[in-house]
Amino acid sequence: MFTATLEGQAFSQPTGKILCIGRNYAAHAAELNNPVPDEPVLFLKPADAACDLTKALVLPVGCGSVHHELEIAILIGEPLKNAPEGDVESAIAGVGLGLDLTLRDVQSGLKEKGLPWERAKSFDGACPLSPFISAEKIADLTAINFSLTRNGQIQQQGCSGDMLNPIIPLIAHMSRWFTINSGDVIMTGTPTGVGPLEAGDQLVLELDGLLKFETGVQR
Ligand code: ZN
Repeated sequence: MFTATLEGQAFSQPTGKILCIGRNYAAHAAELNNPVPDEPVLFLKPADAACDLTKALVLPVGCGSVHHELEIAILIGEPLKNAPEGDVESAIAGVGLGLDLTLRDVQSGLKEKGLPWERAKSFDGACPLSPFISAEKIADLTAINFSLTRNGQIQQQGCSGDMLNPIIPLIAHMSRWFTINSGDVIMTGTPTGVGPLEAGDQLVLELDGLLKFETGVQR
């Protein structure tokens, strides 16, 4: 069981399910030759996918390439069900970063057959999460800059302003399909620049000058 950290303290609830969106940035949809969807592509990761992004990542072995997808992660503090957009902001407890780790070769095989993606995206440890910062410190949810540097090279650089479904309407939409509980996490989609991780990689993750830390990939 994993419990997120909010402002240096363990959050009151353990991490529950993780609600994710695919193809929320046009440039990332294009890099994987996917069309821009006309409605949000939603999927879930179970609680056991959550782990600590500040500790060296342990990648699955023998499953082909493991891609990093750096995403803004939202920690939910109040339950939401069929929520109007006006109710969403006060339910956000924290903002952080997450990696939507993806077994890309496995996913490609499943996609070709039209099968669900769970084995590629929902395995144990498939969602490393950073410490969260209080949502009050984020001036504008539609202008959050974030980046991933891998072995000294900027690999992914995004801004929430480029999301096809911005954070507030996205969470309202998700709550029409799934009850969102305190301790659940929203993954908001990845910008362009996804790629494989290798043992020994050194990563630096940054969120708008509010959060910056190093992590690694276990050898
Ligand atoms: Zn993703």
